[in-house]
Amino acid sequence: MRSAGIKLGDFYSLTLQDLYNWCEQQNLESYRAEQIFNWQKKGISDFDQLSNIDKQTRSLLAADFDPSPLQLREEYSSRLDNTKKFVFSLRDGNIIESVLMEYRFGYSVCISSQAGCRMQCRFCASAGQGFGRDLTVGEMLAQVALINKMCDYGVKRVTVMGIGEPFDNYDNLVEFLKRLRDPTGLHISLRRVTVSTCGLVDKMIKFIDENLPITLSVSLHAPNQVIRKKLIPIAVKYPYRQLIDAGEKYAVSSGRRITYEYALFAGINDQDKHAEQLAAVLRDKLCHVNLIAANEVPGLDFRSASEPRIQSFKKVLEANNINVTLRRELGSDIAAACGQLRRSVENA
Ligand code: SF4
Repeated sequence: MRSAGIKLGDFYSLTLQDLYNWCEQQNLESYRAEQIFNWQKKGISDFDQLSNIDKQTRSLLAADFDPSPLQLREEYSSRLDNTKKFVFSLRDGNIIESVLMEYRFGYSVCISSQAGCRMQCRFCASAGQGFGRDLTVGEMLAQVALINKMCDYGVKRVTVMGIGEPFDNYDNLVEFLKRLRDPTGLHISLRRVTVSTCGLVDKMIKFIDENLPITLSVSLHAPNQVIRKKLIPIAVKYPYRQLIDAGEKYAVSSGRRITYEYALFAGINDQDKHAEQLAAVLRDKLCHVNLIAANEVPGLDFRSASEPRIQSFKKVLEANNINVTLRRELGSDIAAACGQLRRSVENA
């Protein structure tokens, strides 16, 4: 028998079937399960917000479940644009970040998939902070639902590009994506979802068979293996050629263009000869290159390429018929790089 005060989990981890089972155990009619589940997509953080559920049932819910796996700890608003960054505490004290960005089409939310990251990319604020744990499906869903409520249910896109390597939390990621598109849940089309990986080749191949039509984004950041290894340690395990082949296989199998993210670091990967090499690697592939002026993280020795250098790099790719865009930097005044806020909160 469960001791009083020990919860079964959090509300956002529950599926509709879990709630049917729970209602049956509580001798509640099954339509109650649907009414309760409907509140997940509304981003509640307290069972007292379930206005169509009677007080006794709300007490039963509160006895068995935490209403939210996340507690908002800090919120930052950019003065340059409408970007907002949120620092959440998890129930066990781990800390994560999520970001809300405003675009012409509506809002986009960027979520974390892990508390910390094992990948240790040299330029990243999340590296060197240690690894907490994988996020649960409920913790990922709650980031979307809670932030969606904060922007008056205006979220149109979701990116899994915050703290963590999503494919390192593979099973929870796949379940999260299935629940995200569930018509009875948040009901966000996977065509509006981007998942970013630093290049876990075996998981990229496995993901093809999941048949989930997200946009796959690969953090490439280099035109060859020598430079990539200096930036991304996992490149030792998954060499450059294997990664490009896996990207091609994914694009051909899914029929969906793959995005290669390329952050430009001064003096490392930003020369025209690097752009020529990159163009040769990607020529005739179903892909798109997203150039990024690299974020500079205090304490790390990586500097962003200059604006003229970035433009020159872009021109070389265009001259080689590579589909390329320059990612707009949002929220640059509020510790933009993923992991920076978490780091400042943990070090406070
Ligand atoms: S860039 Fe992404 S994958 Fe690399 S350490 Fe940072 S969070 Fe992890």
